[in-house]
Amino acid sequence: MSLMAKGGGDGPGFVGIRFCQECNNMLYPKEDKENKILLYACRNCDYKMPTENNCIYVNKLMHEIDELRHINPEVIQDPTLPRTDDHPCPRCSTRDAVFFQAQTRRAEDEMRLYYVCCNSECTHRWTE
Ligand SMILES: [Zn+2]
Ligand SMILES: [Zn+2]
Repeated sequence: MSLMAKGGGDGPGFVGIRFCQECNNMLYPKEDKENKILLYACRNCDYKMPTENNCIYVNKLMHEIDELRHINPEVIQDPTLPRTDDHPCPRCSTRDAVFFQAQTRRAEDEMRLYYVCCNSECTHRWTE
């Protein structure tokens, strides 16, 4: 078990997740460039709410976990994705994972790689 293991979900003390009051989807941190504040915004509808604090760390963490949740586990069936045996799954230690770059426009995330465990019983998703 590596230090990266997150136990498959929301760890204790993880705060700040907000849900859309319109459609109940998870809200994503979003920068309001005009007003220079952070908002939580729904990607499903136009709902937005202001953040209580501008703690970048919490927002960054939320972003990362949100991205992981939205990875479709069926990517492990995709023959076009590269595979690696150098990155054992933090959950089940399977040495077979697909990996790809983040699908995000945020410059600081561009080089981030996401991994999905190819054990179909597990399909754990993680990032480095
Ligand atoms: Zn919504
Ligand atoms: Zn696994």
